[in-house]
Amino acid sequence: MKIGFIGLGNMGAPMARNLIKAGHELIGFDVAPTNVEDITQKSISEMAEKCSIIFSMLPDGNILRTVYQELLPLCNPQIILVDCSTVDVESALYVSKEAKKMSISVMDAPVSGGVVGAENGTLTFMVGGTKYAYDQIEPYFSIMGQKSVLCGESGAGQSAKICNNMILGISMIGVCEAFNLAQKLNLDWERLFDVVSTSSGSCWSVNTYCPAPGVGPDSPADRDYKPGFAADLMLKDLKLSQDAATTVSAPTELGKHATEIYENFISEGGEGMDFSAILPYLAKK
Ligand code: NAD
Repeated sequence: MKIGFIGLGNMGAPMARNLIKAGHELIGFDVAPTNVEDITQKSISEMAEKCSIIFSMLPDGNILRTVYQELLPLCNPQIILVDCSTVDVESALYVSKEAKKMSISVMDAPVSGGVVGAENGTLTFMVGGTKYAYDQIEPYFSIMGQKSVLCGESGAGQSAKICNNMILGISMIGVCEAFNLAQKLNLDWERLFDVVSTSSGSCWSVNTYCPAPGVGPDSPADRDYKPGFAADLMLKDLKLSQDAATTVSAPTELGKHATEIYENFISEGGEGMDFSAILPYLAKK
């Protein structure tokens, strides 16, 4: 049996290529003409007929719902569907509920690691679904990624993703505020990095992805803030976290404020820049 892959964009295409490189036969589908001449493209119905596993990597929850509306009635109950897109928790739960009515297994498995991780096969998968389905798919996760975690039942993967990225958005803004403050206090960035990266302020945004150019390991700050992880995608994930927080009445004041800061940053010229470019944005204020 073959593997299907729906959504061959910036992330989906390299993920699909890694499955092909590992020796799997793949059928792809995308509504747009894509730059993936090495992947055979067929219709969704042919994919459902010929594949035992179908991955998807789509822009958002509405598109996921539309694609699954067409896909689900065409699938047999042995198939396992794995959606790797970042979508709202409600859409993940909706498609899994619709699938369950037809005895079809669906997992939400959003990823961290970006385009570079997709190309290098070093993504992290955060998975929601049954242990049985996870055990079937784990070998494919380990081709496309370096780690996968079964976080719980359907929706748990998306929940883990938005919680992680809400922490990241807030911490990046905090780090940028501190580096901007340091500059105004005439404190050398390199010295600040030396202290913070080994002190209680250390975090991924400082140690691995420092927003100050020329400081710490190589990061988008050293390449004029070309992404990396685009501010637009960070805003998407922050909005998803705020939608989820509203649904379950969880207080996320800093998450809300971080969302507003990224909204303002993007409308004031940050579109297409890395999410760590909040540092020069603050410096200009
Ligand atoms: P992309 O826009 O490059 O790719 C999405 C693809 O889906 C496109 O090729 C598009 O034509 C296709 N598509 C849209 N509607 C479709 C439909 N109805 N049927 C079939 N194909 C359809 O986006 P991307 O950067 O690959 O991101 C995909 C997902 O991965 C998003 O949910 C994003 O949030 C998530 N993600 C992206 C990154 C990143 O760094 N790019 C990192 C982590 C997670």
